[in-house]
Amino acid sequence: MSLQGKVALVTGAASGIGKECALTMSRQGAILVIADLNQAASELVVQEIVKAGGQAMAVTMDVTNEDAVNAGIEQAVNKFGSIDVLVSNAGIQIVNPIEDYLFSDWKKMLAIHLDGAFLTTKAAIKHMYAGGKGGSIIYMGSVHSHEASKLKSAYVTAKHGLLGLARVVAKEGGSRGVRANVVCPGFVRTPLVEKQIPEQAAALGISEADVVKNVMLKETVDGEFTTVADVANTVAFLAGFDTNAITGQSVVVSHGWYMQ
Ligand code: NAD
Repeated sequence: MSLQGKVALVTGAASGIGKECALTMSRQGAILVIADLNQAASELVVQEIVKAGGQAMAVTMDVTNEDAVNAGIEQAVNKFGSIDVLVSNAGIQIVNPIEDYLFSDWKKMLAIHLDGAFLTTKAAIKHMYAGGKGGSIIYMGSVHSHEASKLKSAYVTAKHGLLGLARVVAKEGGSRGVRANVVCPGFVRTPLVEKQIPEQAAALGISEADVVKNVMLKETVDGEFTTVADVANTVAFLAGFDTNAITGQSVVVSHGWYMQ
């Protein structure tokens, strides 16, 4: 089990969880492709990896755009020869009660989380099949792949959907050495979550401290946030785990918020 020399493409890798996944896998010897909308921030991650002695490139990619996804994957394969690991992680959050949830926001959420996962899988898997060398696909799910919360109709729907996609890819890819799993974090203090705290406080009519204590961390065993390192170490483990013994699974990393 080693990531040494493996080419890993991480979407949404310019920030938060995706960035930490990229840094962690790079420390374990992987060659990184930082795929994100935010080109400037992606370049900074590349610089950080190169400074630490690793190898990386940035590709500007909107995961909802098929041409952009295909072009980004081709750029990566042209430069590094293949894709061995795909971490489909790019995501956003929009919270609102369903009666106020804009249809355009619903479509945007499903496009980033589900179209993005589908398009990147479709483009990357053929390189994993090529030469029969296989690979590892990891979808960034959430505790919301298993649980529901108020205000998150589109997010919960999308994150549940990733479980279905991973199971199909696990079945299709099994005989060709491609594994697919979902990592399901609890709340992690990234920009995505920092933005939600005041929004949820306003929508639920409670204080921001109450959102953290009584909404976000209420069901954990210890009242603690999950960290980017917790999630990245799990992703790196799955990325390097090189048999079909673990495939079609979801791994929940949430301080016991959800126990399966
Ligand atoms: P973040 O906001 O820190 O980072 C998200 C990254 O995705 C950004 O760099 C952004 O530019 C990029 N991105 C957004 N839309 C994109 C698009 N269309 N194409 C390409 N890149 C795009 O968020 P994060 O908290 O690190 O979230 C990463 C993933 O983890 C998301 O899928 C999120 O749902 C999931 N997640 C987060 C938490 C949490 O508590 N933070 C918990 C569970 C799951």
